[in-house]
Amino acid sequence: MAPRRRDMVSFMYLVDTHCHLNSKFFDVDRDDVVARAVGVTRMIVPAIDFRNIPKVHAITEQYGGVYGAVGIYPRYCADWETSNVDRLRQAAQHEHVVTIGEIGLDYSWNNKCPRETQQAVFSEQLKLAAELNLPVIIHNFQSYADCLQLVAASPLAGNDRIGVLHHFTSDYETAQRAMDLGLYLSFAAPVTYMNAKKVPTLVAELPLSRIVVETDAPNMPPHPYRGAQGKFSRNEPAYVRLIAQSISSIHRKSLEETAKITTENAVRLFRL
Ligand SMILES: [Zn+2]
Repeated sequence: MAPRRRDMVSFMYLVDTHCHLNSKFFDVDRDDVVARAVGVTRMIVPAIDFRNIPKVHAITEQYGGVYGAVGIYPRYCADWETSNVDRLRQAAQHEHVVTIGEIGLDYSWNNKCPRETQQAVFSEQLKLAAELNLPVIIHNFQSYADCLQLVAASPLAGNDRIGVLHHFTSDYETAQRAMDLGLYLSFAAPVTYMNAKKVPTLVAELPLSRIVVETDAPNMPPHPYRGAQGKFSRNEPAYVRLIAQSISSIHRKSLEETAKITTENAVRLFRL
């Protein structure tokens, strides 16, 4: 029997699992940015501190398919107090909030928040995610081992939805440990930088069943929108297609198939 015409049309849906659509860099043309993201039917917008949260909430109300994450980023946790857990719990009650993030550990030399404080704040938020039965979006900078250890020690460990290591750039061993814990790995622009090789080589070794895609907009656009070294060039959710495109060529699959698998992963993880 000949396939019906509808079956022959290729539908491609992508999820940008991490874009800061609330950023001031989108204030001038946010409607256009969302409209340009054809096929990117769902996006997750992570807050990084309490100041961000009302705007993240508002954006999720304004655009269909846009979901929020609430959490305190490891650069903004120096003045953390225990009552913040209640504020976050409250913020997470919003109907479009699907995850706690972005949270984690950032060991950059210029992060003024001491490591011990970061670890305590991360652990508190992991605990909150477990209590609310929400997954987490994890940011890390030179801290993979500690991040994974704290996740393993948290009440989230063993859940069927734990979370994602966002903007993953580490090695196979770390990826394997993360996957063993039940985490997904999210890839951003570096997978499109074929001259850098490290991330594309790693992606070739990973199963698509553990991969999701993101832009991390407005920073770090994928090839060919990278712009001149040291000059800001804005990234946006429409470019998540380029991330998926690179992953599909690395895995020798069609873009549609890669889009389908990564979207199913994101939908399963975040219950979108
Ligand atoms: Zn981010």
